[in-house]
Amino acid sequence: MARRARPERTCVGCRRRAPAGELLRVVAVGDEAGYSLRPDPARRLPGRGANMHPDPACFALAVRRRAFGRALRVTAVLDHGELAEHIDASSTTSGQPDRARVASKVGRPT
Ligand SMILES: [Zn+2]
Repeated sequence: MARRARPERTCVGCRRRAPAGELLRVVAVGDEAGYSLRPDPARRLPGRGANMHPDPACFALAVRRRAFGRALRVTAVLDHGELAEHIDASSTTSGQPDRARVASKVGRPT
């Protein structure tokens, strides 16, 4: 059996170390509208990355202590929307199937 060194990263939310494969890589993508956080599950996007558990609790912690800006060296305001959706989606699929309730709240006809 070949033993490979498993790279470890620190979660920007709970600050615990974990194998890189268990953490979600996040990069900051900037354009004229500002910076936004983008989940990078394939770990392929260029640039600095922050790492966190794909967990709403770690996400909330990281947002509260502004850990993303520090980890990514971005001083501008970061938009969390896309990342929040990603975290939300991955936590609802692994949690209880609560989609009907969510849909009734969001999918109201205008
Ligand atoms: Zn964490």
